[in-house]
Amino acid sequence: MADLPSIEQPDGRLRGRRRPKPSLWVSPVPYGLGETKPNHYFEILRTAWENKRHPLYAWRILSKGVCDGCALGVAGFSDWTISGVHLCTTRLNLLKVNTMGALDPRVLADVAPLRKVSGAELRDLGRLPYPMVRRAGDEGFQRVLWSEALDVIAGRIRASKAANGGSADRVGFYLTSRGITNEVYYVAQKAARFIGTNNVDNAARICHAPSTGALRKQLGIAATTVSYRDAIESDLVILWGADVANAQPVFMKYLYLGRKQGLKVAVVNPYREPGLDRYWVPSNVESAIFGTKMTDEFFAVHTGGDVAFINGVLKASFAITPRAGANSGQCSSASRSTTSSAGPAPRGQTWSGWPGCTPRRGP
Ligand code: SF4
Repeated sequence: MADLPSIEQPDGRLRGRRRPKPSLWVSPVPYGLGETKPNHYFEILRTAWENKRHPLYAWRILSKGVCDGCALGVAGFSDWTISGVHLCTTRLNLLKVNTMGALDPRVLADVAPLRKVSGAELRDLGRLPYPMVRRAGDEGFQRVLWSEALDVIAGRIRASKAANGGSADRVGFYLTSRGITNEVYYVAQKAARFIGTNNVDNAARICHAPSTGALRKQLGIAATTVSYRDAIESDLVILWGADVANAQPVFMKYLYLGRKQGLKVAVVNPYREPGLDRYWVPSNVESAIFGTKMTDEFFAVHTGGDVAFINGVLKASFAITPRAGANSGQCSSASRSTTSSAGPAPRGQTWSGWPGCTPRRGP
């Protein structure tokens, strides 16, 4: 496809072309001054401040660990798709989950005032220093010994198994999808296996249930069939109901590398996410200074109008009828625009996104 193919390194990773591409610049004004944009370098400073109690530990987590943020995948500061730094503010914002100190247990003595506190403020209280229990009727949590806490949990599990003929089928683990460390997931699945149940669930499944269900029904498997590298080397990427600028920010760097070699990007969503329109990739000098226009086409379908929209796109693609998708809110001209703006795709188009799931900013 590309007139400027990306450069493959000896280790198989891709490195973008260094030659500047002013046609993609957001503005000649350095660093997007005056623009509404994320301030990545400020976020780095804030992360350093938040983790000042354990700077070496924080650095070890970043430089040697995996990410607590999303499933894009990283080892230390590198991934397996591109050369260069892989780091984003989502990961930085979660770093304090690993390094934060213990909370003052007195704030849990009465939970009534905590009902007015936001989730982020609750998390900033700190981690639990020891096991605590709130029994029915109590105003708050009381400290208990580890042995007592373990007895309570083990007793409930034993009782459940005894009531079910020795089966652990009624025992389940539910974990949030962000805000706990990967070690917690690891320990939870280990404990579940030992107890004899496979009931391990987390909030991410609910987020991805629509896409995995649709993929299984349509393709027979519940996983995507393309690699990240495919996205970089495609002619056209369509982000459908996805907000990668906030949910998987390093994917914007992949898109940037693709854009440098001619990739076109279309976004289908009810909301025009500013970060998907224009992005400043902090680890790339050209993009960090001048910004990068990330989207060529935006299609604002109404909520629930996506089926009509794709019907319209397909009809326009195959020229069955000119009355494409009249009910989607923006379709007839849009779908023809989609098919025409990208032009013929000599090598496969990549359709990306998580149907029905539009992640929002931050953890
Ligand atoms: S995109 Fe960000 S949150 Fe996701 S794996 Fe990479 S560093 Fe972590």
